[in-house]
Amino acid sequence: MSAERAVDPRFERVAIIGLGLIGGSLGHAIKRAGLAGHVAGYARSAETRARALEIGFIDSAHETAAEAVKDADLVVICTPVGALGPVAAEIEPHLKRGAILTDVGSVKMAVVRDIGPYVPEGVHFIPGHPIAGTEQSGPDAGFAELFDGRWCILTPGPGADRDAVARLAAFWQACGSKVDYMEPKHHDLVLAIVSHLPHLIAYNIVGTADDLETVTESEVIKYSAGGFRDFTRLASSDPTMWRDICLNNKDAILEMLGRFSEDLSAMQRMIRWGDGEGLFNLFTRTRAVRRSIIEAGQDTAAPNFGRTPAQKK
Ligand code: NAP
Repeated sequence: MSAERAVDPRFERVAIIGLGLIGGSLGHAIKRAGLAGHVAGYARSAETRARALEIGFIDSAHETAAEAVKDADLVVICTPVGALGPVAAEIEPHLKRGAILTDVGSVKMAVVRDIGPYVPEGVHFIPGHPIAGTEQSGPDAGFAELFDGRWCILTPGPGADRDAVARLAAFWQACGSKVDYMEPKHHDLVLAIVSHLPHLIAYNIVGTADDLETVTESEVIKYSAGGFRDFTRLASSDPTMWRDICLNNKDAILEMLGRFSEDLSAMQRMIRWGDGEGLFNLFTRTRAVRRSIIEAGQDTAAPNFGRTPAQKK
């Protein structure tokens, strides 16, 4: 929208609560584009706070979240989803009037439920979710380019302040993202299929392989280039984050798992009855989905998912 482009994406003081992959990447992206006069940071452990300061993606580290948000014009909570409510309760009395409060949580209905009750009068709460990530976590995992060309979904409530929404959208665009808007419930359904189900399938496949008795672990690792290793990347994602996603997007995940189980049964039947035509048609249809993703610029067409020679080893 041209109106959005005219909005100033910069804030005088930004507070980032949670300094891992996403909080760290946000700090780097803010620095890259000069989007804040000062970036204040808070993480649970003194070690993470010290490391974030040392890397330089925050300007000051604070021992409490309450202290970090003081005088901030933009507060971005980047902790695991299960910690959002307690963090919101702690910072509530310290938020500046007129400030924008947002998050990056991978689910949105639970975020509205957990943060909503702690939003003071005059503070603009606009939930958000950058659809970008890696399997790494912690302050060293962050990098400025993480959000480049990736979508960031905002889920403002019906009474959200239009100027605040436009400012937050401009901010994410200046961090490299493209911005989209959704209802929280729809967001959770979409993410259940594009993110949550793939991760759960990967966790399950890797768990199944780990439990096998007739194939040794060393064989699984030795021959993993047959396809298995592509699932291990997803299955190495942070256990706390994924536990919280499962607990907080239960309905949508169960719906997608139910559909997946039905489709898996249909595939089992095609294999059992030698339905080659059915299998060929399914595999042709799914191949087209990958082509669409590449055409949309959301992955590379390079063989082996664009791994560099060093990574291919
Ligand atoms: P991360 O690398 O593990 O970082 C989490 C940060 O939150 C750490 O600084 C951690 O502090 C802090 N933290 C953890 N528990 C806390 C608590 N109870 N109270 C206060 N701070 C706490 O995680 P991440 O990958 O950046 O994920 C952060 C959020 O982004 C999650 O809500 C996730 O759903 C969302 N997200 C993740 C991805 C992804 O691919 N990873 C993508 C999009 C959105 P310590 O280091 O001191 O423990």
